[in-house]
Amino acid sequence: MRLVLIGPPGAGKGTQAQRLVEFLCVPHLSTGEMLREAIDKGTPVGTQAKQFIDAGKLVPDETVLELVQQRIVQPDCASGYLLDGFPRSLPQATALDKFLTGRSQPLDGVFELEVDKDAVIQRMIARGRGDDKPEVIRQRMATYEEQTKPLSEYYAGRKLLHAIDAMGTVDEVFSRLRQAVEQMKSR
Ligand code: AMP
Repeated sequence: MRLVLIGPPGAGKGTQAQRLVEFLCVPHLSTGEMLREAIDKGTPVGTQAKQFIDAGKLVPDETVLELVQQRIVQPDCASGYLLDGFPRSLPQATALDKFLTGRSQPLDGVFELEVDKDAVIQRMIARGRGDDKPEVIRQRMATYEEQTKPLSEYYAGRKLLHAIDAMGTVDEVFSRLRQAVEQMKSR
C-alpha cells in the first residue's frame, strides 16, 4: 500500500509512522529524517535545508520532491511505503500525483492526524528537539495552517482522506489508524 501520513507539528506523526510501518511491513519515508540526515552529513541539500528548518519554514518544494522521487523508485518501495511529512504543500501534492500517475502507482490513502493545538504545543516543548524552540514552534504551526492544511480538502476531493483523532495515548491513536487501514483494505 502507498500511504501518506500528515498532521501538524507535534501530533505524534513520527511515533505513529514507526508503528504503522512495523504493522504494514513497508519502508518509512520521512522527509524530515532525510533532511536531518543531509544536514548531519553536511551535503549541499543539508546546508540549504538547515536555514529553512531552523526558521520553522518549509524547505523548497523542488528539494524535497527530488529526495522523495529518488527514494520511491528504490526496489524496497515496489510493494508500498509510508510517506511521513510529505507532501506538505499543494504543489508537492500535485507533483507527487503526477509522478505516481506516470508510474501507474497512485496513492491508496492519506491519514491526517487531528489534534488540539494547545496540547500539541505542550508536547513539543517537552520533546525539546533543535527546532522546538517556542518561536520556531509558532512559526511551524503557522506554516502548517497556511501551506499543509489545504491538503485535507485536496485529498478529501480525491476520496483518499482518512481523518484520525490523534488525541490520546500512542496505543489509542495507533488502534484508530489500524482500523482505518483495515477499512481501506476491505473496500
Ligand atoms: P518533520 O520531521 O516532518 O517535522 O520535519 C522537520 C522540518 O523539515 C519541517 O519543519 C520542515 O522545515 C522540513 N520538512 C520536512 N518535510 C518537508 C516537506 N515535505 N516539505 C518542506 N519541508 C519539509
